[in-house]
Amino acid sequence: MAVAPSFQPLLVPTIFPVIEEITLKQLFRNITIDKDTCIAWLKSNGLLATGMMCKCGRIMRPGTFSGFADGKGWRCPEKSCKKFASMRIGSFFEGAHIPLTELVEFLYFWADNMQTTAFLHKNLVWGEHTITDWKNFLRDLCVEEFLVNPQPIGGPGHIVEIDESKFGHRKYSRGRMLSGQWVFGGIDRETKDIFMIPVQDRSAATLVPLIQRYILPGTTILSDEWASYNSIPAASFQHLTVNHSLNFVDPNTGVHTQTVDSTWGGAKKWLRNCMTTNPIPLDTHLSEVCWQNNVEKLVSPTLSWK
Ligand SMILES: [Zn+2]
Repeated sequence: MAVAPSFQPLLVPTIFPVIEEITLKQLFRNITIDKDTCIAWLKSNGLLATGMMCKCGRIMRPGTFSGFADGKGWRCPEKSCKKFASMRIGSFFEGAHIPLTELVEFLYFWADNMQTTAFLHKNLVWGEHTITDWKNFLRDLCVEEFLVNPQPIGGPGHIVEIDESKFGHRKYSRGRMLSGQWVFGGIDRETKDIFMIPVQDRSAATLVPLIQRYILPGTTILSDEWASYNSIPAASFQHLTVNHSLNFVDPNTGVHTQTVDSTWGGAKKWLRNCMTTNPIPLDTHLSEVCWQNNVEKLVSPTLSWK
């Protein structure tokens, strides 16, 4: 089936601005003082397209158009075409109906931890629903990013406990969790940073690449004596085990994996609460738990590690 042609935004490749380096004074004076200044700043920072190719293949020209929120957009010079395109096409702002100046101010506040609804309502004069929607949207983007691009935990001098646990039984059946889904995870004993990944099986071929992706080299890894863990590369990690069939704490070495065991308990309790109300895939839920824990450092009351 032929795919309908679409507008092609032309973006300036750029390093995105670092919010922490922009002061409030600069924001209000140099970025959001008016619509045109804001648009120019967004374009020069790669956040809005600097050019647009029409569906017909012609390069479009900047034009004014009252039908768009920004009053500006792109117009095709081809006489038989003459299409208009919003300047937001292909950008983060596409589809939003809020003025760009307000959105940029919101993003600044959000990124610099001025996130309370009261603060945003007072300063942006947005309704509570709008504020909640945008905060949820940004949070979802962060969780998604965390899923695709996780930050490994541990490192030299750190101890990470790892374990596998079976998640999901009939209790979750209203959600989309498969019954009996294995989840592999770990927790840094010191920072309490975690990772949790749904896995098809518990073979070395599955678990070892995950260890290498989610745990930094130089980490001391503690686990039970599951055979797959024998393949943990000794060149990258120090690996200690505890025999769970004999003891939960190895009497000679003091090795235990009780921190990761309580992590599973907390995560499962949390999942039980949210799977029924929000049936999104398990990996997204787990990514959100990890995001909350590692990045927001806002451990939900049901998730306790101690
Ligand atoms: Zn055209």
